[in-house]
Amino acid sequence: MSSRREKAAELRRLMETDGEAVGEHTRTVNQLSDYAITQFEDYEACREAARGIKERAIENLPELIDTVQEAVEANGGQVHIAQTAADANRIVESIMDARDAEKLVKSKSMTTEEIEVNDHLEDAGYEVRETDLGEFVIQVADEAPSHLIGPAMHKSPEDIAALFNREFDLDEELTGDPHQLTEFARERVGAHIRDADVGMTGANFVVAESGTLMLVTNEGNARKTAVTPDTHIAVTGVEKLVPSLADLQPFTELISRTGTGQDITSYVSLLTPPVDTPVPDFEADEFGDADDREFHLVLLDNGRMGMREDEDLRETLYCIRCGACSNTCANFQSVGGHAFGGDTYTGGIGTGWEAGVHSLDSAGEMNDLCTGCSRCVPKCPVKIDIPWVNTVVRDRVNRSGDADDFDFLVEGLTPDEEPAGLDLQKRFFGNVETFAKVGSLAPELANAVAQSRPGGWLLERVAGVDSRRDLPELATETLREWYGARGSQVTDAERDVVLYPDLYTDYFDPERGKAAVRVLEALDVRVHIPEVPESGRAPLSQGMIETAREQARAVHGSLVDHIDRGRDVVVVEPSDAAMFREDYSHLLPEQSHERLAEHSYEILEYVYGLLDNGADADALAAGDGASVAYHSHCQQRTLGLAEYTEEVLDDAGFDVRTSDVECCGMAGSFGYKSEYYEVSVDVGDHLRDDLGDVDGERLVASGTSCQEQLGVLYERDTPHPVELLSPR
Ligand code: SF4
Repeated sequence: MSSRREKAAELRRLMETDGEAVGEHTRTVNQLSDYAITQFEDYEACREAARGIKERAIENLPELIDTVQEAVEANGGQVHIAQTAADANRIVESIMDARDAEKLVKSKSMTTEEIEVNDHLEDAGYEVRETDLGEFVIQVADEAPSHLIGPAMHKSPEDIAALFNREFDLDEELTGDPHQLTEFARERVGAHIRDADVGMTGANFVVAESGTLMLVTNEGNARKTAVTPDTHIAVTGVEKLVPSLADLQPFTELISRTGTGQDITSYVSLLTPPVDTPVPDFEADEFGDADDREFHLVLLDNGRMGMREDEDLRETLYCIRCGACSNTCANFQSVGGHAFGGDTYTGGIGTGWEAGVHSLDSAGEMNDLCTGCSRCVPKCPVKIDIPWVNTVVRDRVNRSGDADDFDFLVEGLTPDEEPAGLDLQKRFFGNVETFAKVGSLAPELANAVAQSRPGGWLLERVAGVDSRRDLPELATETLREWYGARGSQVTDAERDVVLYPDLYTDYFDPERGKAAVRVLEALDVRVHIPEVPESGRAPLSQGMIETAREQARAVHGSLVDHIDRGRDVVVVEPSDAAMFREDYSHLLPEQSHERLAEHSYEILEYVYGLLDNGADADALAAGDGASVAYHSHCQQRTLGLAEYTEEVLDDAGFDVRTSDVECCGMAGSFGYKSEYYEVSVDVGDHLRDDLGDVDGERLVASGTSCQEQLGVLYERDTPHPVELLSPR
């Protein structure tokens, strides 16, 4: 693994070289995709159907392999099962050899990138040519793809023109005109297809019962590659099998809507090879016999059957590689797949793929770029819990570290459940509650130490906390202390609730907690603020799953008693609301999770419900038309809760506008880590570009990390929206 300094330098370099083109492309596609999904009424039903088909297909994979083998052989083709990448390459080479072939053309396929077939064949003396425009560019540039479906998206048209001008002997220089570049590439690709002896494709799906391949493209090059030469080799992972033709329907509806924002791609080709069209001979200008055609289906395992047995990685096999998780990811938008990628796969789900087909080392290099913000979750057409896959891989990477000489020192100071060898930075951020607790015994002293030059130096050296980022200051009185001294002000309560004293509200920003108490009390709700541990969000974001599980159990144990007494749980911090509603499904027994999820509410969701049930809105502070610029938290949006805040502020008379970007870039501990500080600033800059000038507006944000990031960007205090409603 590279050092923090090397990693930061590499990220900085990629933001400078690839960042602008990747950002422009991914943000555009992400917005197009959002629009395509909102226009598609059947989105959720199709996702359910797609998920069900993939679950059943992976469950029955051994039978499907037998079925497709019979079908392809009955059609006149051959099936080869490759256990490893090396096996697959040997099989491909032997087919080339048997056909006396010299040249192979390829359509785009991540599976062939995974086995590095180009390098293998070229080393063996064959000529290999890419026919997808993006792959053609990448091949000319001698680079690796930077995205699952947009391999050259890190290059602008001007970059591509400069590349072609440099690499080809041209009479006239190309400009950055995309039409001109496409025309140029099309001519060369067309000539290669006409010359080739063998065509190689991947497959988006393979129908087991018929041996039919589904190829989805926008350029039509895949079907030309498949049917122009007399020999067609399709290399595909075993996970691409679906039982029947009818199973393709939901995927056809989903793949382009989520991936590119189109209702359907330009070409959806269904081929049942060997096809029976005559074989064109371009030199002789005639057609040969269709009977000369050969078809080989190479089904690749390369770790997939192991993933199938792995309860947590199995989900990865449901992926249809639409790339939506990358497009929607704020960090990917800044750094692209050359940073957010492993040996082959990139972006959100890339970590799961890398861990399954390559190694934890390969997965670990990019894994920390997933902040767990969850914005990819509603976009994934097969409902993969991508942040959880990444958390599991992070946990495994954590556990693969060697014990350090100083581990015994840290282990004595931190109460976590993690083994020796855990990266000190992760251990620091995962145990932040312990440090907050100790610091709050003497908050002024702790703040002075943390803000001092030696304190900052130590934190940077030991825990990789970037000294350019100001640490939040501990409050002199915690929320629980304040409430304990004050007590409830409601005598005749309509309801009782527990206000969950999350770590940040309790120790660092009790003002937002006080505002939440006052708002609830103004609406005739009696508030209880018990002693409850941190939700486990801090360790979970570091991949410390066992520690998070222990904390989840403790939180459940503390809160369930209140729930039994008929009290709802109200949460100020959206990432903790997401813990209770979503993440605890992985950490607690099903019934415990469901109970807590059913009875917990985000603060303004709860206020919305109270007002909707007749509570007196006039008891809250009035907006009187004041303008508000509001940034909602990513997990809050994923849970569909952001609208409640907008509605409540709107009803209170505020004039609210909201940000559109996916993420603020702080993402909890992410922006404090020295290797990611600049990425976080870059993501934050997009938020500032989006929100623009906020002079004369109240600037509010729901999440801790968003409040902090906006506070830095605009150099002003950024309260929680509930603070606007608090009657003083
Ligand atoms: S994980 Fe989901 S969103 Fe990401 S590439 Fe796979 S199918 Fe698409």
